[in-house]
Amino acid sequence: MPRSRTLAVDFDGVIHAYSRGWHDGTIYDPPLPGALDALHLLLADDAVFVFTTRAVDQVAEWLNERGVPAKADTTRARKFWNTRGTVLVTNRKLAAHAYLDDRAIRFRDWQQALAELAAVGRADEDAASSNAPDTPSAAVRLARIAEAHTRTDDGTCAECGHRWPCPTYGWATLGG
Ligand SMILES: [Mg+2]
Repeated sequence: MPRSRTLAVDFDGVIHAYSRGWHDGTIYDPPLPGALDALHLLLADDAVFVFTTRAVDQVAEWLNERGVPAKADTTRARKFWNTRGTVLVTNRKLAAHAYLDDRAIRFRDWQQALAELAAVGRADEDAASSNAPDTPSAAVRLARIAEAHTRTDDGTCAECGHRWPCPTYGWATLGG
């Protein structure tokens, strides 16, 4: 059998359906379809922890009531979770081979990350006001940044004072 992995799983929006957001702080929704089966499947081979900002007892109890063995993290300064068969519910970002999260952006490099972040929280507004896709707005933002970080006559960046091309100009123009 391959060595077990440690997997981090977000709670709200990944296990708990979370259709109304934080709402009143209770766990008001049923599990997302397939969530409990998936946890059982993963627990058989991997160490699984739920990483949440909620009270860990609240989440552990909710999981146990639905047949998923879970325990609240009570170890101070815990760094690792290597135990199979029981979900650890923790507020700590422990080491993991992968983090499963409904709000995650996969980091590859800062240029890509900033471009993807530029669209976060704005997609709804864009969709409401027009049908503009997210990608051009990210590109436009990068272009504006590059424009601000121009070369001055003495060879430094007009915006940050570094020797031009400054690092910011570098990443803002890498893709284009
Ligand atoms: Mg979430």
